[in-house]
Amino acid sequence: MPDRASTVLRGVAEDEAVLVVNAGSSSLKMQLLPQRQHVHIERIGESGPGGGPGVADHGEAFRIALARLREQAPSVRLLACGHRVVHGGEHFREPVLIDDSVQEVIRQLNRLAPLHNPAGLAGIEAARSELSDIPHVAVFDTAFHASLPEQAYLTGLPYEYYTDHGIRNYGFHGTNHDHVSRQAAGLLGRHRDELSLITLHLGNGASAAAVKHGRSFDTSMGFTPLAGLLMGTRTGDLDPGIILHLLADGKSLLELDQLLNRQSGLKGLSGRSNDMRDLRRAAAAGDRRARLAITVYAYRVKKEIGALAAAMDGLDAVVFTGGIGENDAAIREEILQGMDWLGIELDNERNLAGNSLVSTATSRVAVLVVKADEEGLIAEQTLAVLRAAGAA
Ligand code: ADP
Repeated sequence: MPDRASTVLRGVAEDEAVLVVNAGSSSLKMQLLPQRQHVHIERIGESGPGGGPGVADHGEAFRIALARLREQAPSVRLLACGHRVVHGGEHFREPVLIDDSVQEVIRQLNRLAPLHNPAGLAGIEAARSELSDIPHVAVFDTAFHASLPEQAYLTGLPYEYYTDHGIRNYGFHGTNHDHVSRQAAGLLGRHRDELSLITLHLGNGASAAAVKHGRSFDTSMGFTPLAGLLMGTRTGDLDPGIILHLLADGKSLLELDQLLNRQSGLKGLSGRSNDMRDLRRAAAAGDRRARLAITVYAYRVKKEIGALAAAMDGLDAVVFTGGIGENDAAIREEILQGMDWLGIELDNERNLAGNSLVSTATSRVAVLVVKADEEGLIAEQTLAVLRAAGAA
């Protein structure tokens, strides 16, 4: 087993739990912590197997998932419910206890994140009505990036687009960038406040963050989670002129949305799959486009490391996390190849063995692999909010 650290919930009895709710546009993940019992419901709002009735909406999905969790853990008493919400805008800079007015502000933020926030809101509505006797806390994907300096969050649009329309870079995956940067500092035996770290969240979605002295200093995602690195099905950064060109060519908004968010990235380049494991197999069997997709993917991450190291005026460690970052030793090697001039030396044996520390003893910059644990951090932050409010 890899020796990676994970989250622990302090002060929670064996028969107590925090319920973490992570609602996606057509899925719902729920987990009890610290027990780690979990349920994942997919294809919400679609027909069931064989065209039969499926799960109608997030409300029904929540009730089904809760019933399953109660079967799995009948004697557990719920202390609180922590909700993952993608977009907190500029309003929510940290986790918050949910009441009707908070729920209303989250609803207003749907405007900024129409693809992502409505699901989080639906999860909150369902959970607050089914579990009205426990406190609910919202934990925002954007919150850790609230510390971005102006130079990082402003776009090149006229300033009024920021002041009047809220158009700026917000950054996402903040909960996990926060979590793995803390874990990395712990593994190095250092304080996060004295380190310059680059955290690479490489899952289906992918983002990089510069965590300087404990705060998010820049990040690759922007106004939406479409920006930055190449992803499973998303383009990441691309010349905005291409969008104008496609619009002029007659593509509709909906078609563009599908193209940029769902048909591009690893899937679009390979013409095969958004799953890195499939691409590895195909590339090993000689598939040129699968190999090309992986090469572009690694190149974009490498360039981002260079950019963020320059932005922070230095670098102490690079941290890999997410399904690809944690499990694909070859991608770590491809990304970091030739970066010894920057002080990054990968130890091939450690890398293949899947250790937490995968750099050589002489590497000036440490390279670490840390397991993503959004749920663990959401549970921790939920309890912290309640303790601060005197409610737990
Ligand atoms: P999400 O962003 O949906 O939470 P994950 O963090 O689970 O996604 O990452 C999913 C990605 O991780 C997929 O591309 C999958 O192929 C990749 N992955 C998982 N295990 C491995 C592995 N052993 N080797 C390479 N890629 C892997």
